[in-house]
Amino acid sequence: LYDELVLHYQPTFDLASGAVEGVEALLRWQHPQHGLLAPGVFIAAAEESGAIVGIGIWVLREACREAASWRDLCGTAPVVAVNVSARQLREEGFLADVSGALAASGLPAHAVRLELTESVLLEATETTRTNLAALGRLGVALAIDDFGADHSWIGMLKELAPDVLKIDRSFVADSGERERALLRGVLAFARELGLKVVAEGIETEEQLVAVRRLRCDAGQGFHLGRPMPADELRSLLQRDQRLPGVSLRLV
Ligand code: C2E
Ligand code: MG
Ligand code: MG
Repeated sequence: LYDELVLHYQPTFDLASGAVEGVEALLRWQHPQHGLLAPGVFIAAAEESGAIVGIGIWVLREACREAASWRDLCGTAPVVAVNVSARQLREEGFLADVSGALAASGLPAHAVRLELTESVLLEATETTRTNLAALGRLGVALAIDDFGADHSWIGMLKELAPDVLKIDRSFVADSGERERALLRGVLAFARELGLKVVAEGIETEEQLVAVRRLRCDAGQGFHLGRPMPADELRSLLQRDQRLPGVSLRLV
């Protein structure tokens, strides 16, 4: 049923050391007629029909299985980040799905980071809240994805108590005074809360320099590494897991 689904993997880099700190699993649909489809084309429909629940379990299990193989490739294994829809968190069985994927792969809970967007809270039910609390106890990390793209993020911080903020790429792309000031402000309170900050959508060397200057902890984007098939990611981890030296001269 799921054999047309594949995961691509995009690394996030620690901006101080240049090492891969995490790897995000990104879903693709290898469509027999239409070729490789990005999630933007089908995720919304899968959420509406409820198919995302089964797909989400497949993604969790596949990503954990793949991530277990990384431990042998590099000394310190990067965290595997998995995107989770609001719909999945409303399922009674979600916690069991996560612990099942951990058990099947042998990964410890802290090796997994679940990425949630604001819709998780907008569509939250009692079960969502029970699940979030239980996931925290289980020890998986929670990240807020596309942070700042929507409006009520302060409330989200209060309610979710996340470990990681992934700053929406609009803040990285716009290099105006105001955007930089906003980014500095977000970084200041992230530090205050002890959160790790990942800058999303780094597309140019200038943007990399800028987020490094601001002491963002980590970065993700086409300039650092595109989403890639599992075997390419594995050889990246094996070969040289650092950011290219050119990018390291700054700070
Ligand atoms: P996301 O979680 O924010 O993932 C990052 C998206 O930004 C990815 O798009 C990635 O290819 C893209 N990206 C990375 N670097 C850059 C850059 O430098 N510039 C630009 N313009 N884009 C960049 P992708 O793979 O098309 O995924 C889109 C969204 O689909 C994801 O956004 C996520 O919300 C959702 N998604 C992906 N996989 C899954 C999944 O397994 N389950 C669920 N529920 N949602 C998923
Ligand atoms: Mg994400
Ligand atoms: Mg994102």
